[in-house]
Amino acid sequence: MQAWVIGNWKQNPATSDDVDVLLNDLCAAISTTKRMSHDNSARCQIMVAPSLIHLAAVSSRLKATSVLCAGQDVSAHSASTGAYTGECSAQQIVDAGATWTILGHSERRQYHQESNDTLLQKMTHALSQGLGVVFCIGETQEQYDGNQTLTVIDNQLAVVKAFIAEQPELIDSLPTRLIIAYEPVWAIGTGKVPTVTEVSATHQHIKQTLAGFADSLSTMTVLYGGSVNADNADSFAADPMIDGALVGGASLKAGSFLAIATAF
Ligand code: PEP
Repeated sequence: MQAWVIGNWKQNPATSDDVDVLLNDLCAAISTTKRMSHDNSARCQIMVAPSLIHLAAVSSRLKATSVLCAGQDVSAHSASTGAYTGECSAQQIVDAGATWTILGHSERRQYHQESNDTLLQKMTHALSQGLGVVFCIGETQEQYDGNQTLTVIDNQLAVVKAFIAEQPELIDSLPTRLIIAYEPVWAIGTGKVPTVTEVSATHQHIKQTLAGFADSLSTMTVLYGGSVNADNADSFAADPMIDGALVGGASLKAGSFLAIATAF
């Protein structure tokens, strides 16, 4: 199975010049990795999700490489154009050069109150425009402490269940167009990580739940996200239930990001 390592740049870097520096470093790190002959680009698909303002420039720069580009969100409004100030449609994100988008990141859920209904709309628009979706799920610290992780995840995966109920003809395409990223909210940007055993068990639950929705979903990719770095990536990569990583902070340093990708 192909692994995925995805960098979520969030609201970074600050300027276009800083983006250029990061891209230069990333391209240099990729060619160094290739020269050192542990190029695992066939085994691990690398993708970055820049901010919308930088998406077109980044995708244009990365066109000649095997690195893919993703958006960090799409509008919930179905129209490709229209009077939705501040929004960006799935079609516009495709036009900017992305082939995927992240949806349901915990920061969107927390700061923008994204509900399952909203996320179902966004998933529908993204997939209908040909964007693959990296769908983020995960519990808060309080929910983790209350042993509610699996209940929370089941509730968040209900979006996938609702999507396939609405569009059963797309079920067989989902394993290559939908990725689940399990990100415990308490591990994001904190330096705290669950044990590999915990992540593995949660991933197993996610995979079983998806397989329960439809047999063909048993092969779906499930990534771990939350304080993954160059030092701990190996331990996550060694577990067969963990198909890659969604990386925040460490994706802003090309060397660390490539080291994580190499681990998978
Ligand atoms: C994220 O926000 O998706 C994330 C995983 O962040 P970090 O790697 O910084 O914890």
